[in-house]
Amino acid sequence: MRKIEHLISGKMVAGASGNFADVVNPATGEVIAATPLASADEVNTAVASAHAALPAWAAMPPAKRAEIMFNFRDILKSNLADLAPLLSQEHGKTNADALGEIGRGIEVVEFACGIPHLLKGEYSSAVSSGVDSYTMRQPVGVCAGITPFNFPAMVPMWMYPVAIACGNTFVLKPSEKDPTVALRIAELFGEAGLPPGVLNVINGDKLAVDTLLAHPNIDAISFVGSTAIGEYIYQTGAGNGKRVQALCGAKNHLVVMPDADMDQTVDALIGSGFGSAGERCMAISVAVPVGEDTADRLVAKLKPRIEALKIGPHTDMDAEMGPVISKQSFDRINGFIAGGIDAGAELVVDGRDFKLQGYEGGYFMAGSLFDNVTTDMDIYKEEIFGPVLSVVRAKAYDEAVEMINDHEYGNGVAIFTRDGDTARDFNARVQIGMVGINVPIPVPVAYHSFGGWKRSLFGDHHIHGMEGVRFYTRLKTTTMRWPSGMREGAEFNFSRGSDA
Ligand code: NAD
Repeated sequence: MRKIEHLISGKMVAGASGNFADVVNPATGEVIAATPLASADEVNTAVASAHAALPAWAAMPPAKRAEIMFNFRDILKSNLADLAPLLSQEHGKTNADALGEIGRGIEVVEFACGIPHLLKGEYSSAVSSGVDSYTMRQPVGVCAGITPFNFPAMVPMWMYPVAIACGNTFVLKPSEKDPTVALRIAELFGEAGLPPGVLNVINGDKLAVDTLLAHPNIDAISFVGSTAIGEYIYQTGAGNGKRVQALCGAKNHLVVMPDADMDQTVDALIGSGFGSAGERCMAISVAVPVGEDTADRLVAKLKPRIEALKIGPHTDMDAEMGPVISKQSFDRINGFIAGGIDAGAELVVDGRDFKLQGYEGGYFMAGSLFDNVTTDMDIYKEEIFGPVLSVVRAKAYDEAVEMINDHEYGNGVAIFTRDGDTARDFNARVQIGMVGINVPIPVPVAYHSFGGWKRSLFGDHHIHGMEGVRFYTRLKTTTMRWPSGMREGAEFNFSRGSDA
């Protein structure tokens, strides 16, 4: 059995706690590796390594740090074809999805290559006679990242390239379900010239996370995962005096206006609802057609497309959708579907009894479509995180906007329409962090920032882009005067010197 390790001080280190978790290939249900669950002592060793590496790394000129980021970007590009299957064999997503995910991570590295420019401060000459003022952004210190299973390469890369480029050191705790790709990418960063200790990867579960949350030498924590855990991370980390950003669960709606191009809308819903088996925090899980006629046309076109989805393992290059991550997820999603039927929703396409020859032990399910879902049903209120699309019919546009604003989550949303006036009004009124106008998954590119509103994000900063730079730096403002400006003697008030 392959044993996964930790990466501490630039070296792969075997797990010493004696506790391991199974890593399962979701396409077959077979255990393919064991991931170590770190003890508190092992976490402390990783934090000590990051702490020791901090002074030299923070003092390195940003342009030198950028050189290493450029190397890292090139190494990632040349390893792309090998990284994708490493990711998919533990996650289950298609090869194309894995390549796309790693590509989005590389874009963050490219953004971080511009760090000398991104850290530039502001300067004001003569804020008073002979007095100048300027700002700089300095690293926060040792940062920790706690990441989910669904984007095992990209989500860690939302965090540490920006943190490290800003001069921080980092301890990553990837998901225990699919840690291998994150570990390999961290190893490649070392090959790109990153000094030992600047990026450490510690594998583990709640014990490792709790140790990080309480550790006096951890200064900032980035979390991406479910809302229940994210809220806990935010409250505990902030209670311990740390800077915390926690990006959490979602329920993303796509409003279909009567004037929308129905073929384009259906294409968009198929990709955004069923891509990566619906296991995306930006997946569209609710379609909201406005008007009965729009709804009837939408459901009629969706049904055959969902039934035709090509499902297969990542080794099948034609597959459009892979298995879900685990038996537990599989059972949970099936439970939601049964609950939706009981609550009175109409199951138009039933994906539950799908079997793939040769992969009977895998967690494959086909796409499901519910019509006539209402906002009091669990399938509407909860994040299902599987290939299940619900149609909630709205009588009017205002009803659609109110429904979305009333939902506890506020990650992403989309509207499909040909009417600019409606789109503009929607964008202004909707209480959601990321909005798509005729774009189904409005994931911001690396040089913008990703983040939701309401219970989809705890903390003040979105992730990557300039928000990432702000999260991983502290602002310092310096006011200076040199001897020639000090001739007027002592001042005892807050006035603007001789100008006041
Ligand atoms: P999860 O919350 O179960 O796990 C996330 C991380 O938290 C993992 O590293 C895990 O080891 C750790 N963890 C789990 N239980 C813990 C506990 N009790 N105490 C401390 N740490 C714990 O999430 P998941 O199932 O891996 O990922 C899916 C979730 O992530 C979905 O809700 C999805 O919407 C969300 N997600 C959100 C975004 C976003 O940007 N908003 C992006 C991707 C995924």
